[in-house]
Amino acid sequence: MQHRKLTFIGAGNMAQAIIAGLVNGGYPADRIRVCAPSATRRDALAQRYGVISSDDNLAGAQDADVVVLAVKPQLMASVCEPLRGLLNVPGKLVLSIAAGVSVARFQALLGEPLTLVRIMPNTPSLVGKGMSGLYAPANVSAEDRAFSAELMQSVGKVCWVEQESGINGVIAAAGSAPAYFFLFMEAMQQEAIRQGFTPDSARQLVQQAALGAAALVEASPDTPLATLRENVTSKGGTTAEALRVFNEHQLTQTVADAMQAAVHRAQEME
Ligand code: NAD
Repeated sequence: MQHRKLTFIGAGNMAQAIIAGLVNGGYPADRIRVCAPSATRRDALAQRYGVISSDDNLAGAQDADVVVLAVKPQLMASVCEPLRGLLNVPGKLVLSIAAGVSVARFQALLGEPLTLVRIMPNTPSLVGKGMSGLYAPANVSAEDRAFSAELMQSVGKVCWVEQESGINGVIAAAGSAPAYFFLFMEAMQQEAIRQGFTPDSARQLVQQAALGAAALVEASPDTPLATLRENVTSKGGTTAEALRVFNEHQLTQTVADAMQAAVHRAQEME
């Protein structure tokens, strides 16, 4: 991976996850600057990873080859306003990890021509198991695409979407998805407690079952998910009985409705 000069605008959880992945993967810390108003937060990152800490977004943006916009979507306009004219210059790559802020919106905020890649990561990036979707308009070079993908590969896996609207699909299928699994696991933990397990034991049972299921899926890339399910479902057995109840309550349709609601919300935010 090229060691371009990187500036993160924002020192939150997601910036930290990516910085950790990069530095642990051998990216030189002195090529990474992190800009945020809160000294406590950015200095903690500087101390932990050896990156440069600054409260000067303008200098950080000007000095970098790649600027990662990592603030909350509702702050993006006020953060971008002072950077107008600084990022739409040749050789500068801008990466946004914010949900619901479109390329067109960034062009309006920062000026054109802008070389910008939209990235939608998820929280398992914090433990190196992230899933990020990337979208790049036609003006982004193959080299910049490769760099963007490599950056996110430092915290997990990546996939490209052809249309910008595909980012909303990534939100529904991966960005918001950890919460779906947490909800499912919470419900299982609660019922295991009701059946007599301590909260710790209940959590361990559910957690290990979830990890095991995910590991089996990962270890069987050519096996359809339905086959994996059928493999643990003996006719007339306990699993079949549990799945019958899920079906009666239309779990598949509920999941579809929930994912469509996530896409819808993402569209509303744009
Ligand atoms: P966070 O709240 O943890 O961090 C936001 C950071 O922005 C803070 O460090 C804050 O100090 C900094 N900030 C605030 N105002 C600033 C300013 N004027 N200049 C520079 N920095 C400023 O948020 P997060 O969870 O890291 O999310 C960051 C972005 O990543 C968001 O746009 C979010 O949509 C996106 N994202 C997050 C997740 C997630 O699961 N956490 C997933 C996908 C995308």
